[in-house]
Amino acid sequence: MKRYGIMGGTFDPIHYGHLVIANEVLSDFNLDKIFFVPTGIPPHKTSEGMTNPYHRYMMTQFATMTHPSFDVCDYEIAKDTVSYTIDTIEYFHNLYPDSKLYFITGTDAVLELPTWKDTEGMLAICTFIAVNRPGYVKENLEEKINQIAIQYHGEIYSIDAPQLKISSTDIRNRIAENRPIKYLLPETVEQYILKNKLYIRRCHD
Ligand code: NAP
Repeated sequence: MKRYGIMGGTFDPIHYGHLVIANEVLSDFNLDKIFFVPTGIPPHKTSEGMTNPYHRYMMTQFATMTHPSFDVCDYEIAKDTVSYTIDTIEYFHNLYPDSKLYFITGTDAVLELPTWKDTEGMLAICTFIAVNRPGYVKENLEEKINQIAIQYHGEIYSIDAPQLKISSTDIRNRIAENRPIKYLLPETVEQYILKNKLYIRRCHD
């Protein structure tokens, strides 16, 4: 049975933190492939201020193109309706009905799973992997994650990301403040940002 990862996030912009996490999960969970899925219209927050989905998709393409087991999926950004993760998971489930699916994203998002659309439906066909970023501290984290898994009859893993303290917010702020971003993200993405003048007018988040 093939094992596929679905790496969901805004990727505004994608950086080495995301790539190292994906590579770790690929190896630790023995996955055949990871699909990066940039968020389309998010259900839980305003997309105002978010970079145009096309740019986020292109940056994700450039960042992942040299990895043979990384791919990018435009399913969410191609939609002009709100992107619910249940639809994305069902899309992959229909595409690969005999595979095991893993949805990988930040722990803070996974803790909100009970508020998402069709939590039980998602957990019935997909295992979740909650990635704890360096410095992310939450009281009784394991217990909270286990409670969600039990309540919705699913499987959720909680893993610690490698100690790479890089965040998209920090990168956006650095660009706005004219500080360096080199070595925080792939050079192709840095060049794409410069060429398209992304993030230069944005103030602090
Ligand atoms: P986000 O704003 O991109 O990320 C939130 C936090 O998690 C940030 O610290 C981010 O770091 C980190 N992160 C993002 N993607 C990650 C990944 N793949 N692995 C590890 N860490 C990651 O994303 P979000 O708005 O929380 O949404 C995350 C995912 O959950 C998206 O796919 C979204 O569509 C889904 N979601 C679905 C529903 C629903 O269906 N109702 C509701 C909420 C969220 P950086 O800032 O450095 O990226």
